[in-house]
Amino acid sequence: MSLALPLRNCVYYGNVSSTTGWPIIRRTKMTENENTQRQPRQLWLVPFEGRTGHHLVADVAVKVPTTRLYSYAVPEALTEAVCAGAAVRVPYGRSQRVVDGFCVRVSQRPWDQTRKSILQAESGLQWLSEPLIELGLWVSDYYACSPWKTFTAMLPAAARKQRLRNVTYVRATGRQLPKKPTPKQAALLAAIGDAELRRDEAIKRAGVSPAVFNRLRRHGVLECEVRREPLPPGPVTLTEPVEPAGEHQHSGWGGPPCPPVRSAGGRGGPPHRVTHFPDAHPEPMGECAEDRFELTAGQQSALGRIRAARDGQDVFRVFLLFGVPGSGKTEVYIRTMRAVIHAGRQAILLIPEIALATQVVERLSRRFERVAVLHSQLSARMRHDTLAAIAAGKVDVVIGTRTAVFAPCPRLGLLVVDEEQESSFKNLAAPYYHARDVAIKRGQLEGVPVVLGSATPALETWYNAQHRPHFELVRLPERVPGAKLPRVSLVVSSDREGRQAAMILSPELHDQLAQTLADGQQAIILHNRRGYAVYLRCASCGLMVSCLRCGCHLVYHQYRTERVMKCHRCGARAAVPPRCLDDTCGGRLERTGRAIQHLEEVLRRSFPKARLLRLDSDTMRRRDDYRHALAGFEAGEADIMLGTQMVAKGLDFPRVRLVGVIEADAMLSLPDFRAGERVFQLIVQVVGRAGRREGTSLALVQTAARPAPAIRHALRMDYETFAGGELEQRQRLFYPPLARLVRLICADSRAGRAREAAEHLAEVLRDRATRIHAGLRVDAAEPCIVPRLREMLRYQVLVRGPRAACVHTLLHEIAAEKLPRPAVQRFTIDVDPVDLL
Ligand code: ADP
Ligand code: ZN
Repeated sequence: MSLALPLRNCVYYGNVSSTTGWPIIRRTKMTENENTQRQPRQLWLVPFEGRTGHHLVADVAVKVPTTRLYSYAVPEALTEAVCAGAAVRVPYGRSQRVVDGFCVRVSQRPWDQTRKSILQAESGLQWLSEPLIELGLWVSDYYACSPWKTFTAMLPAAARKQRLRNVTYVRATGRQLPKKPTPKQAALLAAIGDAELRRDEAIKRAGVSPAVFNRLRRHGVLECEVRREPLPPGPVTLTEPVEPAGEHQHSGWGGPPCPPVRSAGGRGGPPHRVTHFPDAHPEPMGECAEDRFELTAGQQSALGRIRAARDGQDVFRVFLLFGVPGSGKTEVYIRTMRAVIHAGRQAILLIPEIALATQVVERLSRRFERVAVLHSQLSARMRHDTLAAIAAGKVDVVIGTRTAVFAPCPRLGLLVVDEEQESSFKNLAAPYYHARDVAIKRGQLEGVPVVLGSATPALETWYNAQHRPHFELVRLPERVPGAKLPRVSLVVSSDREGRQAAMILSPELHDQLAQTLADGQQAIILHNRRGYAVYLRCASCGLMVSCLRCGCHLVYHQYRTERVMKCHRCGARAAVPPRCLDDTCGGRLERTGRAIQHLEEVLRRSFPKARLLRLDSDTMRRRDDYRHALAGFEAGEADIMLGTQMVAKGLDFPRVRLVGVIEADAMLSLPDFRAGERVFQLIVQVVGRAGRREGTSLALVQTAARPAPAIRHALRMDYETFAGGELEQRQRLFYPPLARLVRLICADSRAGRAREAAEHLAEVLRDRATRIHAGLRVDAAEPCIVPRLREMLRYQVLVRGPRAACVHTLLHEIAAEKLPRPAVQRFTIDVDPVDLL
């Protein structure tokens, strides 16, 4: 890409420095004539004295750690290319270093100051609408992250660039063949004539083979030129639903069948089938059995309230749809979306994890014609095409994980966040945004309603629903007709003495499993510990085998042919040592803390005929693995599904009659203020997997000791009492949602650096904080709960304040470098952290 052409009014120009390769600025005024003759590489635009006017100015997110945008003049030659979303190169700072940037907006502004000008620009796809730009700037500001990082996270590189392909053009050179042309050669020459034609087009028109063309080219009669051209929009695969299985067969309820699911990506079949997206609005879909559900009173009133907001003046409202699992929340989303689409708008549905969402994707693509799926595992091309289709308005419903909150819908009408309490909505790299909170902001900016759905809302959301005027709590108190929540009972293994306390599978759970299997029903067992044994410890000195890089204990994994130790933080693997790592001891190593592989072994021994299916990140490596496993379980190909927390999430299996939870209290031992909330959510979710259709069902929760309040409330599915108690405690300890929390992490591999930097930071911040707001609290620097990660030592400073505003004032002083940035290898600002690990 060439440098910008000089503008007529330029008065600065420079020679190129031999050391830096970039212009040396000299203040030489030139006449217009000189200017055009010399073609200087101008960098600056300055108005002539006495002349006022406007010029094009671009606000650029520059690839440097800064929290603001920089304005650059747009040279005439680049006015076409520079648009919102364009990739640019600009001079930055005193040294005129050339850096990458991302054009955020372009506007005409009075020519009132000296501005550097953009050097190069490559126009991207114009997907950034005004509200999206505003949203990006808000994210950058709120999460104290540079606009560059924010906008590149919103629109990943693959999506920003226009996709190009090589196209070969041919024309006749005028040279003659040595012999008389054959009829085929003549036909080709006639097809081309004096014009220039695409090679494939010419061959097709003449109806000859490429060999004819090649021969003419070898004789110099034809010549070719290859050019880069934008790829025409191709067919797009937007959804890849699983083939419905078992009870989900379309006509299973009787009545007219639904329209066929478009993609045939079922088990064993091809992963995608290409779907063409019609430009025009498609024919309305045929009626589905689900469309004729008689809504429960709760569903009716929920729909009515959301609709009232849409029709009213005050369109932006946040609805917390609060209902036990299986109370028909998804049905409410679907019908609300229907209304929104009917009004010619688009809807976004955010889901926690794509791998676990095949059922939802399938359900939505049965009910809507134009559904697109966005998630992090899409190939660059798929992502690009999907975004293009969304931006062109060819999509009605976007389903996706957290990045889908930025989907470039031109006519957004509704945002839905399903299972809004899930921590996977939090981005784990800068910007550390929370997609639920971004969705609420987007709703506010675009004036559209936001629906948050959960059986166990995040305490933040619950608190907001009671205290904030634009929030509305909508309850769905009952399960849909026919479904009944399971009876829940508790098994405390330490009540009994000796042998039984050491059992991973209590006799109660064993008997219930036997009964369930005998009745031909299915069971789900949750054990949230990966591997075979959680610890490997020396029997004589107690030394634990731990990860050299992270310091945390290694987990013993046992595969059919292999035994390894794995670090669950950094993924490192190590061979199992024969004895204690301390040479002076050399004692025997013992395995303690039984994990899921052990449970699987016990189950296999106890129920040799039962078909087991284990779901954890060791068995489910690829996305298709989940799809196949879930579809298999749904089709009745397994009797017991055991797994880590992934078996708890949003699955709808009609034949599950028993749910077991192993060591429910193990997770409470995490020193995190949200540990209780997490355990409560997990138990309610997994218990909700049973009893989703007719008949009675049972959930057995095993704990090692007398259950903590979080577990006791979860057994009764009593969210409100739990939340009340938990909020009181958070208030006492000054934690979210009663305080705003920011976590600053200093990480460094050099001894002492992280600690020193964090201590210094805490001191500086405390000094500033007292002057900003009396309620601001800066805790002393302390090691993180995971004190070492990937060879870096980690220290944190927690900042808490009564309101977001005062915390942000302090934060911005760091971000804007008014306060010194800690000199460590990795400094992280995490606003509203979801954990303190
Ligand atoms: P949730 O999202 O709250 O877990 P779903 O919307 O998934 O609940 O509903 C659970 C099941 O009940 C689904 O299979 C759904 O098709 C069915 N369902 C939803 N609403 C009704 C209704 N009004 N009448 C009968 N069945 C319903
Ligand atoms: Zn490690």
